[in-house]
Amino acid sequence: MRTVYLDNNATTRVAPEVLEEMLPFFSDLYGNPSSMHSFGGQVARHINEARARVAALIGAEPDEIIFTSCGTESDNTAVLSALAVNPEKRHIVTSRVEHPAVKVLCENLVEKGYRVTALGVDSSGNIDMDEYERSLTLDTAVVSLMWANNETGAIFPVEEAALLAREKGILFHTDAVQAVGKIPINMKGNGLSMLSFSGHKLHAPKGIGVLYVRRGTRFSPFMIGGHQEKSRRGGTENTPGIAGIGRACKLAGERIEEENTRVKELRDRLEREIATRVSNIRINGGKALRLPNTTNISFEFVEGEGILLLMDEFGICASSGSACTSGSLQPSHVLRAMGVPFTMAHGSVRFSLSTYSTDEDVDLVIEKLPPIIARLREMSPYWKEGSVCAAE
Ligand code: PLP
Repeated sequence: MRTVYLDNNATTRVAPEVLEEMLPFFSDLYGNPSSMHSFGGQVARHINEARARVAALIGAEPDEIIFTSCGTESDNTAVLSALAVNPEKRHIVTSRVEHPAVKVLCENLVEKGYRVTALGVDSSGNIDMDEYERSLTLDTAVVSLMWANNETGAIFPVEEAALLAREKGILFHTDAVQAVGKIPINMKGNGLSMLSFSGHKLHAPKGIGVLYVRRGTRFSPFMIGGHQEKSRRGGTENTPGIAGIGRACKLAGERIEEENTRVKELRDRLEREIATRVSNIRINGGKALRLPNTTNISFEFVEGEGILLLMDEFGICASSGSACTSGSLQPSHVLRAMGVPFTMAHGSVRFSLSTYSTDEDVDLVIEKLPPIIARLREMSPYWKEGSVCAAE
């Protein structure tokens, strides 16, 4: 059976070009880049090249790029660094729809005595900028707002928010794990202090992440040890991963146009066709500025897990909520924050496309999904045809 992989916000396939770039670092180029000998030194040169490629994708300088192990490490490092360099400040501003890499960290920091303002969102997933501005105080050490939401694709106005924070001398971090490679990002001239992203969301392997730290930003490392990454992140470099993410960033730069045209059109067609074939649905975040590859659809009166299991029988991979929260039957914290009614929130499915998604992939979902929903609704004690759609 063919796999129709529409779960690219959970993780992506390693691009063949990326794999090819990585392979020599397991065999011929296995030296330690910190070694004195030229065998290691040649690896260091490849790391520099990868750093330049990563920087180029987001309009940064190479020395503003720190390689980490994943998006979670980058997020944790950024927030904890901001707190460490501002020991007199005890307040953090974030949102209610962050990924657990920021959300759970903030909950943990509350237990340690920090004050956290988690901004709510409206039914489209947008924050209220006036409320945001009012939340910034003299005691605020850091703002951490995601660039794009992993569940709905909704995009926060982080550049505007960062300028407001900068005016007040507050460090601003963004979790851009879902944004980098999908929408153009240019760090030149914006007010962001730190930005996190992760290799496995943009066709590089798992186990490699990036933290951008603007030149001149005070920084306190999370991983303390050797002098790697200019003493900003100890630990022998993941050289295959670094080479891989360098190549993946170069590819992403070349493909970003396609992501915002062909991939977006595929996503839009999927939404349109489902909407004409299935009643009582809601596109979560559909009215917000959104990533081009993501759609999150609620089907009233059915369980998202049931939909996933039946789609799985046809080889279709999608997700209900984020991969990290699936496994629990609680509706996602993102949909709850958006006020999605209970009967809708339980039946939501996220499809996330990539450059490898095809017309045939979308055709299969359009063919198989409507009868799956009909079958599940027949079994639902709550379902009655014509019930009012809780539309946005
Ligand atoms: N932030 C967001 C928005 C994500 O979607 C994810 C992964 O799903 C992460 C952070 C965590 O990244 P990683 O899996 O590389 O730790």
